[in-house]
Amino acid sequence: MAALAANLPAAGDAESKPPRTPSKVAYQCEECRVKVWGKPDLSLICGDCHGIDGQIPHLAPVSSY
Ligand SMILES: [Zn+2]
Repeated sequence: MAALAANLPAAGDAESKPPRTPSKVAYQCEECRVKVWGKPDLSLICGDCHGIDGQIPHLAPVSSY
């Protein structure tokens, strides 16, 4: 006879979800809108727009997606 009653104690898998800490951040140039992915807390500049007006365009992190 097969016992169908499954009253087993729950195995402790309630905390299997990792916290939502993004490991990648999208950065976008404000001039040419190019977008790159990288680690958080990077300081990036755009090579295409660099030096056009003697400025150094930094890529700002965007929080879409
Ligand atoms: Zn650019």
